[in-house]
Amino acid sequence: MEHLDVLIVGAGLSGIGAAYRIQTRCPDRTYAVLEGREALGGTWDLFRYPGVRSDSDMFTLGFPFHPWKAAKAIADGPSILDYLHETASTYGIDKHIRFGQRVVRASWSSADALWTVETADAAYTCSFLYVCSGYYDYDSGYVVDFDGKNDFQGRIVHPQHWPDQLDYAGQRVVVIGSGATAVTLVPAMAGTAEHVTMLQRSPSYVASRPAHDALSDRMRAVLPENLAHRLIRGKNVVASTAIYNAFRKWPAHAAWLLNSAVAKQLPESIPVDPHFTPRYKPWDQRLCLVPDADLFKALHNGSASVVTDEIDRFTPTGLRLRSGRELEADLVVTATGLRMVALGNIQVTVDERPVAPHDTFVYKGMMLSGVPNLAWCIGYTNNSWTLRSDLTSQYVCRLLNHLTATGTRVCLPEVDPSEYDAPPRPVVDLSSGYIRRAAQILPRQGTQGPWRLRQNYPRDLITLRYNRVDDGVMQFS
Ligand SMILES: Cc1cc2nc3c(=O)[nH]c(=O)nc-3n(C[C@H](O)[C@H](O)[C@H](O)COP(=O)(O)OP(=O)(O)OC[C@H]3O[C@@H](n4cnc5c(N)ncnc54)[C@H](O)[C@@H]3O)c2cc1C
Repeated sequence: MEHLDVLIVGAGLSGIGAAYRIQTRCPDRTYAVLEGREALGGTWDLFRYPGVRSDSDMFTLGFPFHPWKAAKAIADGPSILDYLHETASTYGIDKHIRFGQRVVRASWSSADALWTVETADAAYTCSFLYVCSGYYDYDSGYVVDFDGKNDFQGRIVHPQHWPDQLDYAGQRVVVIGSGATAVTLVPAMAGTAEHVTMLQRSPSYVASRPAHDALSDRMRAVLPENLAHRLIRGKNVVASTAIYNAFRKWPAHAAWLLNSAVAKQLPESIPVDPHFTPRYKPWDQRLCLVPDADLFKALHNGSASVVTDEIDRFTPTGLRLRSGRELEADLVVTATGLRMVALGNIQVTVDERPVAPHDTFVYKGMMLSGVPNLAWCIGYTNNSWTLRSDLTSQYVCRLLNHLTATGTRVCLPEVDPSEYDAPPRPVVDLSSGYIRRAAQILPRQGTQGPWRLRQNYPRDLITLRYNRVDDGVMQFS
């Protein structure tokens, strides 16, 4: 069986970033990236629906070590995928990726201090398993079983499985949903379709922002590339952290601010209440970004509209709503969300004892209590994913270097049993449907110290970069 010091699972944004950190900070360790699909890029390769784009700025969603050079700060999916390919080839990471290697099982043996990692047709051993599998199921999105689906004579498509060359020109399209995907799809399809209706049960908070960041563009024009990149990242981190904290501290003011800004951009025929007045507090769920006001432009020119109502059932020609209204459609897009999974659906055992992620606590947002030499790379939900995923990779390197320096082979975070007394709290603390649905499968977060997740980049930057690795909680042997 082939042995690698470190196995990284997943060649998405996190896996590529992890590989860069391992090869630069732990150059003596051998590593490989096992990717279940036949392509790198993860999210940015999988999602192909019209208009697919980032909803955070690329200076912080991109890697700190490889500046984002393209024009737009809010970038389209294909440009992000190109950037990931370019990063992987620039640093020779692509040579370490083994495609078509979906990891199904990982078994830890304390006697050997090794993981045995199995894919459908291969097995490896490694000393440290770094799971960069993202947070959702690649096989299927979340599908709601609406009544009468089979009666519908048009087409139903889920954004996670967008058919190549789907022709919707001149068609009546209904997009079910109000999250980031729906808000992206509606303006992107509006120019081509006869009409696009965004059908939502309840609205989300949306905020307009220019796709180009004028100040960053000026900084890039006059400063050396790397300096400009660092300064722009710093500026964006400070701004996004300050806005998030202010919104959480003063939710009523934040809601008023967001609603007033939206009201000014809506046509008179679409009142902000009920269509853009959510029932939750800002940042209980991710804020949806509208670049260059594209959604509002489509609502103004009549190529798109919004309906806030509940679906009663599909009919042969469209959808019947609880209010009794009928929506005619040729194509229905079910932007109903993702199915979250923990640890890339890998069955994990420790000395033949199965590990249920929900029974574990997350240590420093990455390792699981009672599970040695394994980390799961999860990014921020209130900021760009990469800000946290890269800190996690840097921390994993510190941990590996600590093992080398101390001649130890095993690191094991052991949770204080009193944490089990507190009500369970999932590792991702948002109220969005896809996260609530996954509460029973996600690891838990605790109440204090390294068991508490704070979603605060400046704080994480200090604790993960500078605090002692040997903190008294992590056991080394
Ligand atoms: C449409 C969309 C837009 C988004 N936009 C933003 C944004 O603007 N800003 C932001 O911060 N976040 C955004 N996100 C979240 C996004 O997923 C992250 O930003 C980031 O791309 C995640 O990277 P990742 O590598 O951790 O996970 P993924 O991109 O999900 O990649 C995981 C990789 O692991 C592989 N894998 C999974 N399980 C296994 C296994 N068992 N064995 C082998 N391989 C496996 C997968 O095939 C995949 O290649 C968005 C998500 C979506 C779906």
